[in-house]
Amino acid sequence: MKRKAWSRLPWQAAIWNRLRPDLGSNHHAFLLLGHEGIGKQALGRALASALLCMHPMEDASACGECESCEWLYAGNHPDFRWLTTPSRLQEMGAEDESAGSELEDSASEKRASEVIGIDSVRNLASFFSLTTHRGGARVLFIEPAEALNIAAANALLKTLEEPPAGSRFILVSSHARRLPATILSRCLSVNVPLPSIEDARQWLLDKGVSSPDSVLNQAAGRPLRALALADPTQQLARKEFMAQLSSLERDPYGLSEKVNRENVALWTEWMQCWCYDLLAKINHAPIRFNPEYEIKINALAHKVHLGKLLDWEKKLRIARYQSQQPVNPRLFCDDLLNAYCAVLQ
Ligand SMILES: [Zn+2]
Repeated sequence: MKRKAWSRLPWQAAIWNRLRPDLGSNHHAFLLLGHEGIGKQALGRALASALLCMHPMEDASACGECESCEWLYAGNHPDFRWLTTPSRLQEMGAEDESAGSELEDSASEKRASEVIGIDSVRNLASFFSLTTHRGGARVLFIEPAEALNIAAANALLKTLEEPPAGSRFILVSSHARRLPATILSRCLSVNVPLPSIEDARQWLLDKGVSSPDSVLNQAAGRPLRALALADPTQQLARKEFMAQLSSLERDPYGLSEKVNRENVALWTEWMQCWCYDLLAKINHAPIRFNPEYEIKINALAHKVHLGKLLDWEKKLRIARYQSQQPVNPRLFCDDLLNAYCAVLQ
């Protein structure tokens, strides 16, 4: 019989063993921290399963066979809630009960869709006031936790400080610095590590990725990010993008004609990786993200203006964050390419 439980990823056995003693302890709020694309959500979901399971296994993980595990797996456990942003809910195919009707334009709509607002927290009142099934645990899963706005975080604080009996909280965040200190101080922070290259490579091979090393380089060793990047359409788009970015003979501004809302964040990431590799070459360090372009990078490294390259690096760091917000993709990309051209003059 197939085990019906959310499982941790293969490389998370060590961190699971470190967390096990805390499952039955007084810690009622776990905050899982780490880079995007390393499996924090999977670990958090495995924790939630374990906390709700009626007959946990010897290693404290969920049995995958009890009524509770089946409900959770089917997405209808009465004592589990996933607090997330409207855009994430849409990806998951669920309706957002608190979606605002007062949105003025597409920019404010986009901003609102990336935020967990106070109404979503208020809607949890009945979840916390009802008795749990068979007096078991109740789990609130908050992901991405940094999406809580100030009002929502404040509203949540009271429940975090005085949780109803049996309540456990699992918060997941890739951006701990964006979390209010009041929330941070009430959670047990757990740094989720990157897997070893060997573990990540094997996992990608098992997922059917034929050239895991290349996508792992592009993703800085983050396996889930590497899996997303391994999509053939994505790889073709990257190849075209890098060909233009790495060639001085071509007009990099031509790239702006193809940028859109869907790819602007990814393109910014690719430019940032390119910038880091140029900096690495100048500092005689190994090229990390684009080793297949080493010859091009060597040639360009002799031509760059270091001060301008550092300016571009700083600009890209800010742009990486801004690219998640509503921007005019064409103007945004032109601005970054302009700074890149200055680096090469
Ligand atoms: Zn179970």
